Amino acid sequence: MRARLVAGNWKLNGSLESIRSLMDGIKKGAGAVKSAHIAVCPPAVYIPEVASLAAGTAIAVGSQNICDQDAGAFTGEIAGSMLNEFGCKYAIVGHSERRSLYGESDELVAKRFAAARRAGLIPILCVGELLEEREQGITETVVGRQLAAVLALEGIEAFADAVVAYEPVWAIGTGLTASPEQAQAVHAFIRTKLAKDNAQVAEKLIIQYGGSVKAANAAELFSQPDIDGGLIGGAALDADEFLAICRAAD
Ligand code: PEP
Repeated sequence: MRARLVAGNWKLNGSLESIRSLMDGIKKGAGAVKSAHIAVCPPAVYIPEVASLAAGTAIAVGSQNICDQDAGAFTGEIAGSMLNEFGCKYAIVGHSERRSLYGESDELVAKRFAAARRAGLIPILCVGELLEEREQGITETVVGRQLAAVLALEGIEAFADAVVAYEPVWAIGTGLTASPEQAQAVHAFIRTKLAKDNAQVAEKLIIQYGGSVKAANAAELFSQPDIDGGLIGGAALDADEFLAICRAAD
């Protein structure tokens, strides 16, 4: 059976006080989550604090992005080695907000994916279509293209140490969730596409769903055969809600 991972993407939210209280709440309930893996991805400046609060627990820490370069004149960027040094295990790459608001191309996302692996981090590669792309019936073309950029640079073996998050852009932060069947269809497409290159890697790959997951819809989504947990935005800012989602993945 595949491992399951629930990761909270805190985006640009929080203060020292609020993240301490959020971590306090998550730590209180994390012990009751037996098999699902838990991660939180705070804004970068809070990573050291969150990593020290998570020390000795089963809660892993991830970054929301990572520089595609390892060092040098790249003002404003954060290298994988730095994230590693401060206790990160995961690095989200290609979140739709990075792709759409900051113009990150498939090729740049692939380079960030590669940088995460060079630094010993597990990339969480976000893929997903816009509403108009779904309406045009090109969801698989879009998701296939996003995966192909990473495959071209890194090859299928790289997915043995990676996570994919399918996040339909129209479902992120909108309250609209893909139905379990809609999500499952894309997850199955992703696994089948990767299986053409390496069936074992594809079978073991954690494919998370993300897009307005909450305690009320998590269990149904996670009951689908190819959905192995979730990447959680808004609901990850509430410890009880986040823990309920983690238990649903358990
Ligand atoms: C996300 O930002 O990755 C996300 C899935 O957000 P939300 O859960 O708020 O839709």
